[in-house]
Amino acid sequence: MDKKWFQKSYRRNLTDMHITDWNEEFLSKFDPKTYVDLLELAQVKSAMVYANSHVGNCYWPTKVGHMHEGLKGRDILGEMIEQCHQRGMDFIVYYSLIFNNWAYENNPSWRIIRADGKEAAADRRYGVCCPNSGYRDFAVAEIEDFCSNYDFEGIFFDMTFWPHICYCSSCQERYRKEVGKELPRIVNWEDPEWVKFQRKREEWLTEFTKLATFTAKRVKPGVAVENQFSTSIANFGQGVTAEIGKTSDYAGGDFYGGLLQESFICKLYYNLTPNKPFEFMTSRCIHLSDHTTRKSEELMKVHAYSALANDGAFLFIDAIDPVGTMNRDVYEIMGRVFGETKAYEKYLGGDLCQDVAIYFSFASKFNPADNGKNISELKRGFFSDQPHLETSVNAVKSLLNENIPFGVITKDDLKDLSDYQVIVLPKVLMMDEEEVKALREFVASGGSLYASGSASLLDKDGNKQKDFMLADVLGVSYLGETKERLTYIAPTSKAAELFPNISSEYPLTIFGPQIKAKPVNQEEVLATITLPYTDPADHTKFSSIHSNPPGIPTEYPAVILRDFGKGKVVWVAGDLEMMKYDPQRKVFINLIKSLAQKPFSFEADAPKSVEITLFHQEENKRYIINFLNFQEELPNIPISGITCRVKLEGKKPTKLMKLPGEEEIPFELKGNYVEFRTPELETFLMLALNYEQ
Ligand SMILES: [Zn+2]
Repeated sequence: MDKKWFQKSYRRNLTDMHITDWNEEFLSKFDPKTYVDLLELAQVKSAMVYANSHVGNCYWPTKVGHMHEGLKGRDILGEMIEQCHQRGMDFIVYYSLIFNNWAYENNPSWRIIRADGKEAAADRRYGVCCPNSGYRDFAVAEIEDFCSNYDFEGIFFDMTFWPHICYCSSCQERYRKEVGKELPRIVNWEDPEWVKFQRKREEWLTEFTKLATFTAKRVKPGVAVENQFSTSIANFGQGVTAEIGKTSDYAGGDFYGGLLQESFICKLYYNLTPNKPFEFMTSRCIHLSDHTTRKSEELMKVHAYSALANDGAFLFIDAIDPVGTMNRDVYEIMGRVFGETKAYEKYLGGDLCQDVAIYFSFASKFNPADNGKNISELKRGFFSDQPHLETSVNAVKSLLNENIPFGVITKDDLKDLSDYQVIVLPKVLMMDEEEVKALREFVASGGSLYASGSASLLDKDGNKQKDFMLADVLGVSYLGETKERLTYIAPTSKAAELFPNISSEYPLTIFGPQIKAKPVNQEEVLATITLPYTDPADHTKFSSIHSNPPGIPTEYPAVILRDFGKGKVVWVAGDLEMMKYDPQRKVFINLIKSLAQKPFSFEADAPKSVEITLFHQEENKRYIINFLNFQEELPNIPISGITCRVKLEGKKPTKLMKLPGEEEIPFELKGNYVEFRTPELETFLMLALNYEQ
């Protein structure tokens, strides 16, 4: 079957054009030919180009909304499509939903109303419209307008999320009609009334995203649609579930964090995207709020290679100057970066080897510490206040540093759990029966599970359970939580190997409380909880003035290791996988290794700055092995060579090559592994290991 355009496109660009029109110079120098010349210079395969912007101005002669005054009626959308198609580039229409200052200003009843009662843009730039209001019909009409008048390959719907928790009259009315209640204002994840509101907001957003997507596909059959999905890791406020990603032909979104975030996101998208490749976007400037401070060429290169090492497409975001010009230097740099990555594209594809899976829960994107707060007291910030996300990313770092093959999975992967050896539940805060059932079956039939703290105590509707829903699997029953928010894990003598340099006298610190539980079988307890001499919250009584040394051993289990059915389980009473220091990371990794029932797909002695990904291409009878060096301070100091072993499962290796030049590299067979030493690694290496059955 012929591949669709997005299945063949790894080099992409978007140039932001959120330009107002109060100054007649604005966009007066916009020239489609120069723009597309620059894309050509940058070796871009697919161009995402503005049909409108957050400002709400349209770049085509719209019959529905408002056209940018600076264009004086000129149809630059049409001209851009013609230019891109002439040069063989795919054309993706960028369309901003919800964020539309023009619609907001002209239609007061469409405005999102914040919890503090103010209109969304009362003290900020962004006019945002509620998808439950009359704005919905306006958005549909604009989508119908550009979809029926132009010829293009794809659409990117930006801003498919709730910028605020909306209390407008349309939302109030709809909630009354559908739930029969007023909109709640007190956050409490253990209150089904509050959780119901969250589920409704998720449902409404999904419905709106589907409306936009299906409108486009109805008017323009065959068009590919991507909905903004950087919000996959945004906190509950944005109301985004996996459905937004699945309502797209491929998952994608823009990110401005570091390379650890990129690694995490790429793994999440890899497993979640309906079609490959997924799309990873980042700006060429240090941040979206900066117009001129460029990222270094080295950093752009590492970002692009990181997407490539995960079989993802890379999109760089530039921003147009208000008058409509663009900086040529940026496109020269991108041309050099894409000039390099292009050579590897023909080797991409296959199945990512993921022995350990981090379980990311869309229902857990909140902070239980907010329980009882009024909605208007919550901290703002897209990614803030999510212990589950922070713990997930931290667990990824521990695995990555130890060269353990991993992936990130979601509820969508419940049917394929047996593809993984070990599943980690990193401070998963909410679970439903379906997840509990699938995890129980996974372990019973031979899988391994790592769970910690209160995992499976709270269901997806906000009902706190009397005992863990997974109590039978975890081998503990719930008693309560330590009041101390600094606690210790003290290993028993039989667990000494898993706890290097840690003892009951000098136990492992957890910067948090631990769950008090009763073990089913005392034999399965590897460590117990030790408390400090006094409660750290009580400043009147302490043992040592700066710190809270361990002093009170308890019988409560801190770590359980057990068999369940054919599988294995580790339960830790505190959030060990959340800790950012080497001793705790080491114990976490030792526990993961003790859960693995067979060797990992690869092993390596790569330093912590190197990420290795392994893809199996069964149809080509080869493995593709990627090595990405991403040191904190760039440019990278080259690494002279890495010893790496790839598991062969009985296959006979024939040739190991460095790509794209296909130079041969010597290797040795060691048991069930092929062992080799890589050439010097500066930023990126891709190797191919061919085999015969
Ligand atoms: Zn509303």
